[in-house]
Amino acid sequence: MTTSVVLFTRDLRLHDHPPLRAALDRSAAVVPLFVRDRAVDAAGFAAPNRLALLADCLRDLDAGLRDRGGRLVVRSGDLVGQVCAVVGEAEADEVHVAADVSAHAHRREELLRSALEARGCRLHVHDAVTTVLAPGSVTPASSDHFAVFTPYFRRWGEHSVREPLAAPRRVRVPDGVGSERLPGRKGLTGLSPGLPAGGEREARKRMTAWLRGGVTGYADHHDDLAEDATSRLSPDLHFGALSPAELVHRARGRGGPGAEAFVRQLAWRDFHHQVLAARPHASAADYRTRHDHWRTGAAAEADVAAWKEGRTGYPIVDAAMRQLRHEGWMHNRGRLLVASFLTKTLYVDWRVGARHFLELLADGDVANNQLNWQWAAGTGTDTRPHRVLNPTTQARRFDPDGAYVRRWVPELAGLEGRSVHEPWRLPKEERSGYGACPDPIVDLAEGLDRFKRARGRD
Ligand SMILES: Cc1cc2nc3c(=O)[nH]c(=O)nc-3n(C[C@H](O)[C@H](O)[C@H](O)COP(=O)(O)OP(=O)(O)OC[C@H]3O[C@@H](n4cnc5c(N)ncnc54)[C@H](O)[C@@H]3O)c2cc1C
Repeated sequence: MTTSVVLFTRDLRLHDHPPLRAALDRSAAVVPLFVRDRAVDAAGFAAPNRLALLADCLRDLDAGLRDRGGRLVVRSGDLVGQVCAVVGEAEADEVHVAADVSAHAHRREELLRSALEARGCRLHVHDAVTTVLAPGSVTPASSDHFAVFTPYFRRWGEHSVREPLAAPRRVRVPDGVGSERLPGRKGLTGLSPGLPAGGEREARKRMTAWLRGGVTGYADHHDDLAEDATSRLSPDLHFGALSPAELVHRARGRGGPGAEAFVRQLAWRDFHHQVLAARPHASAADYRTRHDHWRTGAAAEADVAAWKEGRTGYPIVDAAMRQLRHEGWMHNRGRLLVASFLTKTLYVDWRVGARHFLELLADGDVANNQLNWQWAAGTGTDTRPHRVLNPTTQARRFDPDGAYVRRWVPELAGLEGRSVHEPWRLPKEERSGYGACPDPIVDLAEGLDRFKRARGRD
């Protein structure tokens, strides 16, 4: 029997983990390894909120392995060098890792494969670990990926999803492989105060509670900002504390329109992953150029600062931006409308917004963040790329009583009902009582005209 190394990346769980299962089936001993990759940090991905959840996930993974007789080995530095060092120390014959889609992940796989081969060690890359279906397993006849969600989803639904695997009972880790100390939250600054606890155990509790309750009303209520009726499982999916394939199985087992609508959102996640897998440059470059000449300069910078701080004077935009800062998470409807506001009404480059989201989002990842930003900016896969969401109309529709705005913009908490969405309409003497709330930084009609001109649609 051989010894294997299982390299964990963003699949930080024991349940439904094909690389770990394969390694345990083939080997007498297994080294569960996580490498804090210097290149990921250098690329600006080491945001405090995600580092906190990463630390939670690693500690939980280690605890779960210890319950099974094993432990987690943690290293930091150059990923390839660290994996090779551990392979040498453990005299391992194989390394198992989950496939991933970003340009960085592709490069990592190539470098790892050649470095390991040079040592006579085999790399096994496992599909459908971080996504429900492997990117590339659902393709149209004429292309390497689907560029439109609806046909993708039709085909996606025809594929069978592999059965989830149970967590292992025992994991034997060989002696003599040292580990660095597990990271913790201590010492991290700039964390969002409302950040949830991460890790597989917490994630599984959230999943069970969601499938028992919330998912039933998901189809009807998922867009209601104040109700907060979505799963909030995105950080767990981002770190792989939950398996997307298991979630699909369990949601389908639950059945009903809520569960179906929820599974559809999980397919959106797969959709963006298959786009990025086929077009890795879409993380930084327009997927479909609209020949934009985005605003720059002092006025644009002032608008961006107001947007980031949640003081644009559009209460629904400000509420969503403040939720992001406070929780490291934002409701999907909020994400859509603040992204449309930045890229279309203010006509600022989507990369500026995407970067800010990645600095704060606990679930921030390249595929979902960059491609949703591109969708909102009309440079991605939206089939109506020039539509502009009016924040006031959106507010009336998705926060009809104004409760979401009052929750996050306390200076407007004294305004009742939907009047909270348009404080500028208040009579002058009443408006002065809400002086802490800024006037709108842009006139919506002017913003719309500017955008239409820029896209040659005036
Ligand atoms: C501008 C913008 C940026 C975004 N950035 C991210 C990001 O960095 N990471 C991220 O996970 N999601 C991102 N999303 C997608 C979506 O907003 C979040 O996944 C969702 O709000 C997470 O909340 P939830 O877990 O309660 O979702 P639920 O509504 O409960 O949905 C269940 C799961 O489906 C997936 N999902 C739902 N909607 C989408 C979508 N539009 N695209 C891809 N997957 C989806 C998520 O994994 C989510 O956890 C972004 C959306 C926009 C418009």
